[in-house]
Amino acid sequence: MSAIHTIEDYERHVGKETVRRIKAKARPLRDLHVMHMNSTYYGGGVSQILSSLTLLMNSLGIETGWRVIHGPPDFFSVTKKFHNALQGAAINMTGRKKEIYEHVIHENAVRNHLDHDVVFVHDPQPLPLITHYRKKSPWVWRCHLDLTAPNPKVWNYLAPFIERYDAVVLSCGEYRQDLARPQVFFTPGIDPFSIVNRELSDSAIDERLAHYRIPTDLPLVVQVSRFDHWKDPVGVIQAFLKARKEEECTLVLVGNVATDDPEGAEVYRSLLSYRNERIIVLSVQDGALVNALQRRAAVVLQKSLREGFGLTVSEAMWKGAAVIGGNVGGIRYQIEDGVNGFLVSSVDEAAERIVRLLRDPDLAARLGRAARERVRDHFLFTRTVEQYLDLIGSFEPEFRLNRDVGLSCG
Ligand code: UDP
Repeated sequence: MSAIHTIEDYERHVGKETVRRIKAKARPLRDLHVMHMNSTYYGGGVSQILSSLTLLMNSLGIETGWRVIHGPPDFFSVTKKFHNALQGAAINMTGRKKEIYEHVIHENAVRNHLDHDVVFVHDPQPLPLITHYRKKSPWVWRCHLDLTAPNPKVWNYLAPFIERYDAVVLSCGEYRQDLARPQVFFTPGIDPFSIVNRELSDSAIDERLAHYRIPTDLPLVVQVSRFDHWKDPVGVIQAFLKARKEEECTLVLVGNVATDDPEGAEVYRSLLSYRNERIIVLSVQDGALVNALQRRAAVVLQKSLREGFGLTVSEAMWKGAAVIGGNVGGIRYQIEDGVNGFLVSSVDEAAERIVRLLRDPDLAARLGRAARERVRDHFLFTRTVEQYLDLIGSFEPEFRLNRDVGLSCG
């Protein structure tokens, strides 16, 4: 069984000074009792982040828990519509949707006794929990979505819940909203020791690819994503078909379906008609396969149409992959176009970059080397841990946020 990592293990990636600073920031917070609430244990970036974050916080001496709210399928169908609308989609806001949402959250509040020193509530699903407690400590809403252009119907409905929190954390400054509450901006980061990211030998990569019968005779073009329209899997297939007229390659689309995402199965099914010997579509939950594909791919795509952050981008960049990302949301923070990857806004652009990378492995290698350094400097999980510590440590009496904590506030 592999050991649970401690902050000292991260020294080899981020150096002694960062580890010393994190330990110093954690010391005054020791014995605090912190809770994270979200809506799924696996599938999607939030569960990846919470899985690593809650373990490392405990090893730093901060008692940190993670609970998942429960709900029937109609609840998750409503919350996925809210999710889509917050990312800009249309929505039919009915009384029925609001009733299901608020009722299921009320039930969850009855079951969850939250008297912690700090409570973090992630994303819109558990947002109204706060209305059911006599608050004795700071509560933070951490929204991971792309809030570039939220649908006003859903935003105006959710805003009164959001205003009850003591602070709101968003991934990028562009997502700032018109709120009375303080807004703080920081991106997530990736954990180099997780199953998805840890070192893999060539033979372990071969074994994973062989297990799923993924052919390796031609260069691999890969996208790893939940099956979700925002990830534009059809656009990826169209770009691949276009690129393939010029360069031989195999496309692998690997995805999973989060328990809080009822649309996933339908998106997966809609892709099956495209499958052939050179278009492989796999719905599996296998972090080691994701790791192997990101390491072996000639080109990694993340052609999202909206993306709060996009951990898969940093994951692939950390492995030295040449990544083509959609020119949206948090992907723009990770990839600097032409320096450590490519940003694209159309199927044609994506196809052209795939061909260019397949024809020029030196270019791909150069972008990949710069990509790894970009992630080391900005998107490793230790930075996220430090920002959570800064945030927890910055609440003053009456839960006001001290603005001088080195966090980007608004
Ligand atoms: N992931 C995975 N298996 C899959 C698809 C995704 O393990 O089949 C992981 C992926 O490696 C990443 C996370 O799920 O860590 C997705 O996070 P991201 O921020 O990219 O997107 P989200 O799903 O949160 O929109």
